Amino acid sequence: MANQRVGLYPGTFDPITLGHMDIIRRGLCLMDKMVIGVATNPGKGPLFSLEERIEMVERETAPLANSSGVEIQVEPFSGLLVEFATKMGAKFVVRGLRAVADFEYEFQMVGMNAHLNPDVETVFLMASEKYSFIASRLVKEIAQLGGEVESFLSPAVARDLKQRVGQT
Ligand code: ADP
Repeated sequence: MANQRVGLYPGTFDPITLGHMDIIRRGLCLMDKMVIGVATNPGKGPLFSLEERIEMVERETAPLANSSGVEIQVEPFSGLLVEFATKMGAKFVVRGLRAVADFEYEFQMVGMNAHLNPDVETVFLMASEKYSFIASRLVKEIAQLGGEVESFLSPAVARDLKQRVGQT
């Protein structure tokens, strides 16, 4: 399709949470195709390898692609976001907003990215208040401390995480 609206949703997804899923569900209404960019992010010391994170995102989002009819392509990425967006043919980037702390960081990022490539627009979505407090980093900490993570993750991802931290 020549005028396909392609959006890029980038993140670390270590692991994918119900918050990410909610943003993806909302984002799909805005586009014909969503590229989910899974950042290599070695600096963040991910708990799951890049391959594992990609596989989880593919597995978790397949039903959403089916039900919405919007194509979802999951791709690894490193380097500049705006360059990756251009390479994937994405005219806009989707980001999720949780709290004021996210806003401050994102505000700077949008400004910098706009300088690097003014043709790539950033769209912000807010998750349902049920999910708006969920952050992968905290979910991992809870799991490592032996807490329940089932309310923040899909059953399959919760299982993967508990296995990874040796809870099961
Ligand atoms: P995290 O910040 O949880 O480690 P990512 O770096 O993978 O997650 O985040 C990718 C994008 O998804 C970011 O724009 C982030 O703000 C957004 N996001 C993550 N969790 C939520 C949530 N619970 N509600 C709204 N947006 C979220």
